[in-house]
Amino acid sequence: PFALGPRISNWDQQRAEWLSTHQNVTKNKFGRERVILISGSASKPCRNSVGDHLLVKSLKNKVDYTRLHDIELFYSMAVVDSQMSSFWVKHPMIRKMMLTHPEAEWIWWMDSDAMFTDMTFEIPFHKYEDHNMIIHGFEDLLFEKNSWVGINAGSFLMRNCQWSLDMLDAWTSMGHPRVAVEYGKKLSEVLLDRPIFDSDDQSVLAYLLVTQTQKWAPKVYLENSYYLHGYWVIIADRYEDIMANNKPGTGDEKWPFVTHFVGCKPCGKEASYGIKRCVLQMERAFNFGDNQILQRYGYQHRTLNSSKEIGRVRVDSADPLGLGLPTVSVP
Ligand code: UDP
Ligand code: MN
Repeated sequence: PFALGPRISNWDQQRAEWLSTHQNVTKNKFGRERVILISGSASKPCRNSVGDHLLVKSLKNKVDYTRLHDIELFYSMAVVDSQMSSFWVKHPMIRKMMLTHPEAEWIWWMDSDAMFTDMTFEIPFHKYEDHNMIIHGFEDLLFEKNSWVGINAGSFLMRNCQWSLDMLDAWTSMGHPRVAVEYGKKLSEVLLDRPIFDSDDQSVLAYLLVTQTQKWAPKVYLENSYYLHGYWVIIADRYEDIMANNKPGTGDEKWPFVTHFVGCKPCGKEASYGIKRCVLQMERAFNFGDNQILQRYGYQHRTLNSSKEIGRVRVDSADPLGLGLPTVSVP
């Protein structure tokens, strides 16, 4: 069968052996299992003038979230396997990260067109002790309707283990350019609402889960109690309401964890939605997330519709640490 790199069959043993002599590096500064977040974009400039600006904002958004939670961030602009480009760049990169970072328990992929919109929410890892993959999805849509949108591959996590290496091989074997056209047709036969186009990673994952359910599904947690991926169309015009009525930390429809701009191509062409609408809503998602950062320093964006102006939301104190030390008189 297809393999992304030299075949490894005993990664669990290799990693356990390594961990037994590196126990001091397996936890982050909050004492939690280490997570590496990977995102990335092409090495070329965008074909429109606004795309690179949006990519910087999306990257800053990830820098902010990962700094707050002591998650390591890796941003890739490389195509590490020349055969695997566009949405297939994720998989070789995830494998590389697993093998070079045995200290990390989870590798998390997040698309460049997805942003954190709940800066305080944390993934409840205790729920996933018996699982090796976490992805936003719905059982009925996937297994009853065989829908290619039953899951979303824009934000998902894989445990650093042999199962994940095997899954990555099975997954990418259907994305190789030699077979992408042929599998594209096959995917659309099984996934009933999928138009015919070359095989894409989301559809292949859905296909594997639907056609080899016993083999893969038991270790895949389809999460929908919070927005590991959130479809921007049902979120982005509610941000003002959300701020007025709710508090961050829930990650669900009350305060969505991630807003993902599915169907927008902020850096490219052939989008399903108008570029103006996509750009405005990406700005809004960024400002909504950024407000939760700026607030810590006493500022807020004046409006979600533009990042240009911020305003003060509190009066700064001469005793910022709240220690109540006597003041020193200046002569
Ligand atoms: N990507 C990348 N390099 C590329 C093309 C894509 O790193 O050359 C990443 C990027 O983060 C993007 C993700 O792969 O969000 C998924 O690719 P897709 O073509 O589905 O783009 P999207 O629709 O998410 O913008
Ligand atoms: Mn995307």
